[in-house]
Amino acid sequence: MHQRLANALSYNEFKIFYQPVVDLPTGSIVGAEALCRWPTREGNFNPPETFITQAETSGFIVQLGDWVLKTAVEQVRAWQERFTIDFHLAVNLSGRQFLHHNLMKSIEEAIQKNRYESRLLEFEITESVAMHNAEDSIGIMRQLKTRGMSLALDDFGTGYSSLAYLKRFPIDKLKIDKTFVRDIPEDSNDLAIVTAIIAMAHALGLKVQAEGVETSAQADFLRDCGCEFAQGYLFGRPLPPDEFEALLEQSSAA
Ligand code: C2E
Ligand code: MG
Ligand code: MG
Repeated sequence: MHQRLANALSYNEFKIFYQPVVDLPTGSIVGAEALCRWPTREGNFNPPETFITQAETSGFIVQLGDWVLKTAVEQVRAWQERFTIDFHLAVNLSGRQFLHHNLMKSIEEAIQKNRYESRLLEFEITESVAMHNAEDSIGIMRQLKTRGMSLALDDFGTGYSSLAYLKRFPIDKLKIDKTFVRDIPEDSNDLAIVTAIIAMAHALGLKVQAEGVETSAQADFLRDCGCEFAQGYLFGRPLPPDEFEALLEQSSAA
């Protein structure tokens, strides 16, 4: 598998799609999450959950993640210049990549080569990644924060959700997992969970971003609860670079 993935990288088969992140009160695009795609010969896509897990298991994620970071920083930097906008780029970091000794070097290279502002770079890690080796993780999070980057806890609510750790992690944002958003506003349990996550995050001084927002009823409820940011099909699917650029063009003309 490692060899297959390495070949795919050397033949330039991987792509990055960009999903808009919007400011919920205004609906304007304030960022993008970079999501890796691997097209199949038949013209479909290999499921990211599967090939990312395989890359993680084989250790190839370190190289793939480095490529995603560098390619996405270069792309977003070009958009920032072209549209004179200040939007942030969010990149997912998997466990192996997060704890790899080369991480800071790889990030520094991406930033310096593109003269990218580190305050516009956000990293997403899941609770299990952060918790797996908590003391080391906290050290790495602190280094990233010292360099001006921000940190989000991805898929919040599906992992350990340890409150003891939550208060110790130097993070900026919680991303509410899409499984809690899906049945809003019909499911009263999900309403209670989402309301409680938002209140807790705010009490801890964290911002909140909802994932998987597909309907305006979901967006309305989240906005009323004070959720700051959202992403989901309602605002835009993950898009190839040319389509994301067209979206930016549209919104900068509006
Ligand atoms: P994630 O970081 O939680 O990304 C959000 C996932 O939700 C994406 O799935 C996205 O396509 C999907 N999504 C966005 N809006 C909606 C919506 O409105 N409804 C629904 N049902 N789904 C929505 P995707 O692209 O399949 O990626 C799956 C996971 O693979 C990501 O979850 C992330 O953990 C991982 N991944 C993707 N690219 C990378 C990468 O470059 N590096 C690492 N380490 N992981 C990655
Ligand atoms: Mg993510
Ligand atoms: Mg997520």
